[in-house]
Amino acid sequence: MPRDHLKDVKDHYDVVVIGSGLAGLTSANILARQGRSVLLVEQHYKLGGLATWFKRPGHHIFDVSLHGFPYGMVKSCRRYWTREIADSIVQLTGIRFENPMFSVKTSFTREDFTRLLIEEFKVEPATVNEFFDTARSMNFYDDQETTARQLFDRFFPGRKDVIRLLMEPITYANGSTLEDPAISYGIVFSNFMSKGVFTFRGGTDALITAMEAELRKNGVHIAIRSDCEKIHVKTDGDAGSKVTGVTVNGREIKCDSVVSNSNLMSTIFKLAGEEVFDKSFIDQAKEVRVNNSSTQVYIGLKPDDPMEEETMGDLLFTSTAPTFNTEQLLSRDITSRTYSLYYPETRPEGRPQKLVVSSTNANWEDWDLPEEEYKASKEDLCETTLDALDNYLPNIRERAVHVEAATPRTFNHYTHHVNGASFGTKFEGLAVSRALPQQVKGLFHAGSVGIIMSGWLGAMNYGVIVANEVDSTLMTGGSASTDSAERDVVADVSAG
Ligand SMILES: Cc1cc2nc3c(=O)[nH]c(=O)nc-3n(C[C@H](O)[C@H](O)[C@H](O)COP(=O)(O)OP(=O)(O)OC[C@H]3O[C@@H](n4cnc5c(N)ncnc54)[C@H](O)[C@@H]3O)c2cc1C
Repeated sequence: MPRDHLKDVKDHYDVVVIGSGLAGLTSANILARQGRSVLLVEQHYKLGGLATWFKRPGHHIFDVSLHGFPYGMVKSCRRYWTREIADSIVQLTGIRFENPMFSVKTSFTREDFTRLLIEEFKVEPATVNEFFDTARSMNFYDDQETTARQLFDRFFPGRKDVIRLLMEPITYANGSTLEDPAISYGIVFSNFMSKGVFTFRGGTDALITAMEAELRKNGVHIAIRSDCEKIHVKTDGDAGSKVTGVTVNGREIKCDSVVSNSNLMSTIFKLAGEEVFDKSFIDQAKEVRVNNSSTQVYIGLKPDDPMEEETMGDLLFTSTAPTFNTEQLLSRDITSRTYSLYYPETRPEGRPQKLVVSSTNANWEDWDLPEEEYKASKEDLCETTLDALDNYLPNIRERAVHVEAATPRTFNHYTHHVNGASFGTKFEGLAVSRALPQQVKGLFHAGSVGIIMSGWLGAMNYGVIVANEVDSTLMTGGSASTDSAERDVVADVSAG
């Protein structure tokens, strides 16, 4: 008989959280700490969503999205999780860029970027300072009309090399382009510049295991392999619409609020259904563009491989394209690869293994192929990546013991993200996500959305904002304002 993953689940909860990405996990934890009864359902057999890992023979453990986040994660993990989790966050200091325009190594801090821009790129010190101050003062609530391109043109007109240095890593970090609002660039860039790039010592598996223990300690009921098929909404004339429950694995469970960590588009169009929203809201939601996806190639090296942090660094941004161009960054004809290099120091458990993960932004359409063509494309991705990596790790084919690839289809398969989106939606998705509870009382979305609230830090903090709103709605029936709590969290995200 198949196992009933909802065996001990009660018939009613204050809140059901759909999905265990970093936003879902954090919302569930905060709500449970606030004394709410919380059911967390995850369709996959593992918690974490895109914050995930997998094991392969030879004791290799590959991290999928643990490549780097800003220092703000330390404060967020300490406040919303535990001191132990926060204390495992460590800095990555070897960030390299190799492309036809320049070859540089940096610790990716304001201080070091200032040095690079002045000494190597010959930019006036006053301009560099003014640029950093402008980016730093950008705020979530600021003007959304100015684009990143206009920001760069103001400070560095005609300097394609400078724009590449400043933009390429952020495009990799959240899929933003030169046409996106400057604030979505400025906030994320300043976050990283505040202290550099950080990672979680012990890997994603250690982080998610610690989070799961904390959730259980705080009383969250966790159900894996539990797919939410429907969010139930009751419409009551003048009283408006209200969430009443969910159907998970065919069973109906009642609740007063739902936090959906599922993709924003799936939440609206699949789980709740168009019919429960105003037409104008649905028109706005249909305009939301999902963010790009990614391809990755995971390479496990032999146990005694001589790859060294000192020479190879931790993050290596490479490109063979003559200039920076967002479309080219997404093209199936890959010219840009970001290599994350993992050493035993950041994964101290088990046997000392060294790994390389190559990541490239990608479009869903390029991988939505007939089966045979898809398989051949994946093999080609592995081979061309090994060719490219050979420039930095000579004889890589002899050194590698495991090579495999992931594509937008892989991310869609494991997380059900529309088009395998790596960073939720483009900027306009944020307003739609924020407006959900005004449409249906008790219905919230928390997850990577709108560029700023995406990535590990953004998703986690968006989970915090939404948890506070849910708590307030449960307490007051929705009348209390959470504006000041939201402003505090947003200030933290903006401050890196
Ligand atoms: C290749 C790659 C590299 C990345 N690199 C970085 C990086 O270096 N730094 C960084 O900060 N960020 C990075 N990111 C982005 C980051 O991982 C995500 O933004 C973040 O983890 C998303 O968290 P989330 O809360 O939005 O949920 P997600 O991780 O998207 O998880 C959503 C969860 O909901 C579950 N779910 C969906 N529908 C249902 C349903 N109906 N019922 C039950 N469960 C459901 C899914 O299974 C999933 O577990 C990367 C992403 C990718 C793909």
